[in-house]
Amino acid sequence: MPEGLSTRCVHAGEIADAHGSPHTPVYNTTTFRFASTADLLDVVEGRKPGSLYTRYGLNPTIQALETKLASLEGAEMAWAFCSGMAAEAALFLVHGREGIVCLGDAYGGTLELLGAQIGLLGIRTHLLLSSEFELAESRLRDGCGLVFLETPTNPALEVFDIRRIAAMCHRHGALLAVDNTFASPVNQQPLALGADFVVHSATKYLGGHSDITAGVLAGRKELMTPVWDWRKNLGSMIAPETAALLSRSLRTLVVRVERQNRSAQAVAEAMARHPQVVRVFYPGLPDFPGHELAKSQMQGFGGMLTIEVKGGGEAATRVADRLKLFALAPSLGGAESLVTQPCTTTHHGLSAEERARRGISDAMLRLSIGLEDAEDLIDDLNRALD
Ligand code: PLP
Repeated sequence: MPEGLSTRCVHAGEIADAHGSPHTPVYNTTTFRFASTADLLDVVEGRKPGSLYTRYGLNPTIQALETKLASLEGAEMAWAFCSGMAAEAALFLVHGREGIVCLGDAYGGTLELLGAQIGLLGIRTHLLLSSEFELAESRLRDGCGLVFLETPTNPALEVFDIRRIAAMCHRHGALLAVDNTFASPVNQQPLALGADFVVHSATKYLGGHSDITAGVLAGRKELMTPVWDWRKNLGSMIAPETAALLSRSLRTLVVRVERQNRSAQAVAEAMARHPQVVRVFYPGLPDFPGHELAKSQMQGFGGMLTIEVKGGGEAATRVADRLKLFALAPSLGGAESLVTQPCTTTHHGLSAEERARRGISDAMLRLSIGLEDAEDLIDDLNRALD
């Protein structure tokens, strides 16, 4: 019987040092010395586990972090990267070579990497909206080997059925990767639902303090092993100091995310009652289209929500500019609440027609709920809306 998630957040992977530190120290070193060539060769040739060279990931601070990450996602292995995009790039290069389907709205950087760069390598990429779901299966029939999706999505919080899509991928011999950044392992465990990979921008909830840039890819051993050499030679390794900060943050992950879930629910309910708000996108609201599905595959509804305000894009800009506690900034998942207007940030690069096709209106404001008191956040929103 595995220990509970909070216990694993605190203890999984931690190594005891000779001085009794209660958690893994920062091994801020690029290399490790050996007593003899025979000892060195044991590690180099894989006969013994050990530390060797930090860019390879063979550094105790990084390995401790990766053991914790694997445990939290229920994965056989997890590799840490210097950013979420580095984790995605490694995934696409190793497991996407037969073609990649990106389903639904994904982070703008993901869409750009797939749409503008990965294709240059001769890899087929298909960026499909959720309304084009039927096309996904025909792409798999054509031999595409990897489906990538976010759930809930950004900024409309659309919920995809991970079990169903994993089954569809596996029927066609393809793999499913789920970007679990918005939900975090506290709210959703994609591998247990049938996905083959979990990806994170650890810059967000896992890091949790808006002070580190990092990424994670996790999955089963046979799929993760080939990624190791690519990360090593692409040089996209997390730094030991960042790994230590990320391990520090993970110890409080459950406490933070559960609080953010509760506050987001309270803010969503208050916004649903506000006369200046046309629509609230939040899976925790019973009348939200993805609510039942979210209930069936998530343990909590997350700290992200989007509101659509009356008066269109200009009114939304005025509200964003008037907010005081919510900082006007991209990113999410930190202790401080943030607001972004997708048409000016995450989706600014798309034409107005393309945004409309994706159901992203100029009147939308995306809120990342932090760790402030929910009442203060609601007051801030009410004041800016009024
Ligand atoms: N995935 C999601 C859902 C994101 O929001 C982001 C960044 O905003 C990324 C991936 C990329 O992560 P990073 O900025 O750590 O490279």
